[in-house]
Amino acid sequence: MAVENLSTRDKKYLWHPLTQHKLNKPQLPIVKAKGALLFDEDGNEYIDGIASWYTTMYGHGNDQIIAAMTKQMQKLDFVMFSGLTHEPAIELSEQLINILPDNQAKLFFNDNGSTAIDAAIKMAFQYFHNDGKKRDTLIAFEDGFHGDTFGAMSASGLSSYNGPFEDFLLKVVRIPVPQENNLELVKKQLTNILSENSCAAFIFEPLVQGAAGMKFHSAQGLDELIQLCQTHDVLCIADEIMTGFGKTGTDFASEVLVNKPDIICLSKALTAGMFPLSITSCSQKLYDRFLSDEVHKGFFHAHTFSAHPIGCAAALAGISLLNSSEIKERRQYIEKEHNVFAAEVKNHEKIAEVRVKGVILAIDLQLKMERYGNLRDELYQFFLNSGVLLRPLGNTVYVLPPYVITNIQLQKIYAAIKKALDTF
Ligand SMILES: *Cc1c(COP(=O)(O)O)cnc(C)c1O
Repeated sequence: MAVENLSTRDKKYLWHPLTQHKLNKPQLPIVKAKGALLFDEDGNEYIDGIASWYTTMYGHGNDQIIAAMTKQMQKLDFVMFSGLTHEPAIELSEQLINILPDNQAKLFFNDNGSTAIDAAIKMAFQYFHNDGKKRDTLIAFEDGFHGDTFGAMSASGLSSYNGPFEDFLLKVVRIPVPQENNLELVKKQLTNILSENSCAAFIFEPLVQGAAGMKFHSAQGLDELIQLCQTHDVLCIADEIMTGFGKTGTDFASEVLVNKPDIICLSKALTAGMFPLSITSCSQKLYDRFLSDEVHKGFFHAHTFSAHPIGCAAALAGISLLNSSEIKERRQYIEKEHNVFAAEVKNHEKIAEVRVKGVILAIDLQLKMERYGNLRDELYQFFLNSGVLLRPLGNTVYVLPPYVITNIQLQKIYAAIKKALDTF
């Protein structure tokens, strides 16, 4: 009997995320990855133009990270993080506190982005509960994305994800993202929300809304909204799961804010795509609200794989790379090249808008309505056929490459986009 290929075997028992299987689209089997390249079963190669959901920023199969993880694995594989502690987590806390905004003082570990957000939301509710108060409402941006567990999904405003669950979510009120021309209006809306509701927290993706289509908003506007919330004793949660570790130009997007968030959520590039791990960091003031002679005022929340030592080792190796002169130079280079490309195509008739922030390049396509829907899938396939993995979000094509992408690979991505503009 002939050996079945991976695509055939995949179809037998697997259920993929974000997939309507009735459409019967094949999943591309990847058998190997190195640097910015993915290799399929038939030996074709693809440039990973989105760093596998913006995680593998130092490249696939990074030798330094593999070495650090291997060493850790051989020394201490895993222990519970309740009642026990270990050096990788301690060392990581020291390193992260060094580079996070100054007001961050304590780190709580989880194992993925959504659970980091859920922990942040629970911290916020309990922060008030521990003070004998009930605050039951969250404030979030329209079209935000914070994950797929119930708490995180509640904060998310993308209806394509939330549809069947709308009736089962936490109480959330939404405001538009601040732009230069609407800030006064948004501030007024927020002021009303703050006076009419019992708000616990304001949760936001700082500067860039990822899943919404790499949409940017005004840093100064966000700063003013945070200030307004903090004046009303409402906690501010920065979801830096996408933006963290250098994507927007600074190590963290929150760095450019004057008013620092009370809570910051990290995952994705935290471990360079090598291990599922996440962190919810917070201010001393928030942490202190959980200190009490009453045991139950502590934070009774845990995931089995909290602070997994192998994940912590990967994160430590990632942080040393992030701050290496080589990666810093690459980050600047990518931003410069993005800007050159953006200037070149910005007047193209099929482009509505091109944006660049840090290593993020986003292109909104001008579409005829009847093409919308299928177009995203057609573009995805077109790019794969061109040897590039890009995953358009609606009518937005974005590039967020690993920092280690070579100049030639980066130019190949731009060329594929230009070819797409001529083809569609
Ligand atoms: C990916 C992402 C999440 C969810 O993280 P998961 O690990 O997929 O649960 C939350 N917020 C933002 C901004 C993200 O990009």
